[in-house]
Amino acid sequence: MDPVDPANPAHPVTPLEQALHAARALVLADLVAGEVAQADVVSLVEDSVAERRWWVEQWPDGVAYVAGLVAQDVQDALLERYGRWPLCPVCGSGDPHALDVEPELGPDPHWVCHKAGVKVAAVGSLGSAAGPAASS
Ligand SMILES: [Zn+2]
Repeated sequence: MDPVDPANPAHPVTPLEQALHAARALVLADLVAGEVAQADVVSLVEDSVAERRWWVEQWPDGVAYVAGLVAQDVQDALLERYGRWPLCPVCGSGDPHALDVEPELGPDPHWVCHKAGVKVAAVGSLGSAAGPAASS
């Protein structure tokens, strides 16, 4: 039997729910870090989480990949509506460019800059990523 959340007994806390909750929190943290977490953007995250809930129900082994997938879903949705996100904080010059999630389908997703060839931060940790080298 699944453990039951006493605060919400109608919704047992399954590993799937925990993974979806974590993915939502991680991507929201990165959106907040990029100051793009408006209500309509948050709803993009909710849409992705709902879609990925269905996806993981079909393929339970993919549960560890949900955070990276939600991050990519939101990135794609933002590209259509707002433009590139998240902008690379590492490269201080040249054309602004977005970070990519790696692995695209795997556990422990990170934001990487392919231009500089560096891992910038774990998904959910963009807020603590170093900005462009501040030394003048
Ligand atoms: Zn870069």
